[in-house]
Amino acid sequence: MFEGGKLIWKNGEYLNWEDATTHVLTHTLHYGVGVFEGIRCYETDEGPAVFRLKEHVKRLFESAKIFMMKIPFSEEEIFDAILDTVKKNELKSCYIRPIVYYGYKSLGLSVNDEFPVDIVIAAWSWGAYLGEEGIKNGIRVKTSSFNRFHVNTIATRAKACGNYITSVLAKREALMSGYDEALFLDPDGYVAEGSGENVFIIKDGVVYTPPVTSILKGITRDSIITIARDLGYEVIERRFTRDEMYIADEAFFTGTAAEVTPIRELDGRPIGIGKRGEITEKIQSTFFDIVKGKNKKYSDWLAFVK
Ligand code: PMP
Repeated sequence: MFEGGKLIWKNGEYLNWEDATTHVLTHTLHYGVGVFEGIRCYETDEGPAVFRLKEHVKRLFESAKIFMMKIPFSEEEIFDAILDTVKKNELKSCYIRPIVYYGYKSLGLSVNDEFPVDIVIAAWSWGAYLGEEGIKNGIRVKTSSFNRFHVNTIATRAKACGNYITSVLAKREALMSGYDEALFLDPDGYVAEGSGENVFIIKDGVVYTPPVTSILKGITRDSIITIARDLGYEVIERRFTRDEMYIADEAFFTGTAAEVTPIRELDGRPIGIGKRGEITEKIQSTFFDIVKGKNKKYSDWLAFVK
């Protein structure tokens, strides 16, 4: 699972992989108040390049701000530490996981600025999250019996540890039902997102994605909106229902781990032709060219590991 990871950055120092442990009474382990990122680094002709690193670091600091967690490093320091962690681990392409968490002090619910805030960066090789086959031919998705959060139940703008307990439930439910991934509806019953992905549909040549309410404001989502518009497609952020998705021409998930994964079926209904659609393929291949450094127009999105 953690292929290729050797050293883990913790609070400014490198630890051997097996020594990067924490106490069982670590606050975040009990209550889930921690924030993290999922970032990918791709192999390019000019060496490893981290995709949209600036935006990921910014979101990490924004997530921490929401929970009033003070990260004892600047955004620039974390940006550099992430690039250095990839370099130290001699990884060409990898998944990177920074996490900020409350450390070991006490277990009351009251935390304050004196509480220890630890920050860790790990990196390892991780292939296609929903499988190479899924990337090519699409995956089968089931609407979850669990809802995405009401915006005032949990901080939906934060990529926070505790937010993921419902994602784990939904993912397990989908897999147990023989599907590949879950689709969450929002508290009003509209399509929201996957357990770890944003969602898009295409109908009559127009691309639709749910607005940023209950969902995570995905960095891949943002990239895909830009790419689709640059390819000449109209992209509309608006709510849609699950039955609108049943009769869409194409659909796909986006995410750092999932990249651009077509959805070929929802709740037993084939979407469009029941495999990767034409527009999805165009958007997907543009995305992969960009992350692999083959499309210079978007080179600003890459941070090279030197
Ligand atoms: N929604 C959820 C719930 C996620 O966990 C993720 C993955 N971070 C996404 C959407 C996609 O976000 P991004 O493109 O920034 O990885």
